Amino acid sequence: MKNKVSPKELNSEERIESFKEVVLGYGGQEAVEEAKRCLQCAHPRCIEGCPVGIDIKKFIFQVAEKDFKGAFFTIKEKNNFPSICGRVCPAEYQCRKYCVLTKRNSYCASKNSINIHFLERFVGDYGIDRGLQLPVRANSKLTAKKAAVVGSGPAGLCIAGELARVGMQVVIFESLHKEGGVLRYGIPPFRLPRSILQNEIDYLKKIDVKIKLDTIVGRAITLDELRQKFSTVFLGLGAGVPSFLGVKGENLANIYSANEFLTRVNLMHAFEFPRYQTPVNIGRHIVVIGGGNTAIDSARVALRTQVINGLKPDVSVLYRRTEEQMPARRLEIEHAKEEGIKFRFLTQPTGFFPDGESFVQETESLECRLGEPDSSGRKRPVAKEGSNFKIKSDLVIIAVGLQSNRLLTSLTPSLKTDQWGNIIVDKDMKTSVPNVYSGGDVVGGEGTIIEAMGMAKKAAQAIINSSI
Ligand code: FAD
Ligand code: SF4
Repeated sequence: MKNKVSPKELNSEERIESFKEVVLGYGGQEAVEEAKRCLQCAHPRCIEGCPVGIDIKKFIFQVAEKDFKGAFFTIKEKNNFPSICGRVCPAEYQCRKYCVLTKRNSYCASKNSINIHFLERFVGDYGIDRGLQLPVRANSKLTAKKAAVVGSGPAGLCIAGELARVGMQVVIFESLHKEGGVLRYGIPPFRLPRSILQNEIDYLKKIDVKIKLDTIVGRAITLDELRQKFSTVFLGLGAGVPSFLGVKGENLANIYSANEFLTRVNLMHAFEFPRYQTPVNIGRHIVVIGGGNTAIDSARVALRTQVINGLKPDVSVLYRRTEEQMPARRLEIEHAKEEGIKFRFLTQPTGFFPDGESFVQETESLECRLGEPDSSGRKRPVAKEGSNFKIKSDLVIIAVGLQSNRLLTSLTPSLKTDQWGNIIVDKDMKTSVPNVYSGGDVVGGEGTIIEAMGMAKKAAQAIINSSI
């Protein structure tokens, strides 16, 4: 079998000096070569691993045949954002893990499994470069219907497109001053260039979706008011409230939640202060706590802020489990290591200590070992008594999880939520309030972009079916 084709990447010295995209993607010839490695299995398990069931075998065949346009529309049947998902989907835990070329019982994709995500990205970018989009097919029974979409993350953007394409009048309400949700304020541009996101937003505007920014639903306008003005409301509020460790010293100055840190840099351009007016403190010794994508993104962003500001890079990630148990994408962990980020596994922070002026100066932790499996099936980290140690840290970023924002749900008691504050929906993504649907991170689940988009598509179909 031929060797897999890896896309070119910026070298690590060049990467850390800017927010330029790291992975450069395939050219046409490379995509064809990689597609030709696919075995075109009679029972393509890769499709089972895709949360939205893209016909992967078919689109890869089309790429191998150089029918890139055909491949684009094959993917678009199930996935509205191939250029986005091709860059950020955790494919190594999804389609690629199920590819027949992955070793059985492996916890993630084998290196040799087909690079489905890079092929998807190539096809998505091909479509963007040529202005390809799904056609608008307005249904006369729907053109008088109005839909309000709250939140402009992947769930909101996806449903807005689905409903506008069948002729509904759609207005998105977004609390921030820019659209995109986590795609804008969370995921850094070196993983997802903003031009890719902007392309999707421009397309929505072209098909007449209206976007009202700086509008917090629940404050500027209530859900009941929206229900009076619109036949349907979709809530794609995301899960933007950070969790904390609950240990001593966590409220010291220069300890950020990952969401605040990333929002300041990615959305507010803090690293370009004073050109942009929202600064962020740049640490000399930075500690990031957590093991998910948010932690790795925070660490890589923090390292870049050091280099851009002329400091020697010094960023450590502390994670209480092992590397294999890290939920972050494998590629991003590899990139972080190449860029010089240090990892301390089996390490549980227990407190933070100040300098003389209430600024964090040190992080104290305990070493851990793996114990019995917990409710998630993963071996539980158990702290070793007396193993405490301190590391120098003048900036700490906490990235240990996110929860749903309860602002809107707490003001609307008829909107039922579960014990974690997630909105409860039925199989059609309907909430407990008539004509109000929801999807994405605010209803729980895996917390991935493709899953948020899949839920939005399901809600769109239910709304369309109930409106005609
Ligand atoms: P969001 O993207 O959170 O968008 C919700 C939007 O609603 C926000 O713009 C918010 O401002 C707005 N909003 C909330 N309340 C209101 C209100 N009351 N009124 C008006 N607007 C409101 N997933 C992956 O698949 N791959 C990755 O590599 C990946 N990396 C990630 C990195 C980071 C740093 C983070 C934080 C998450 C990452 N994820 C990743 C998870 C993924 O981004 C989310 O699962 C996805 O964005 C959820 O989409 P959503 O539309 O439900 O919510
Ligand atoms: Fe191709 Fe792997 Fe899917 Fe088989 S399982 S069709 S080899 S991508």
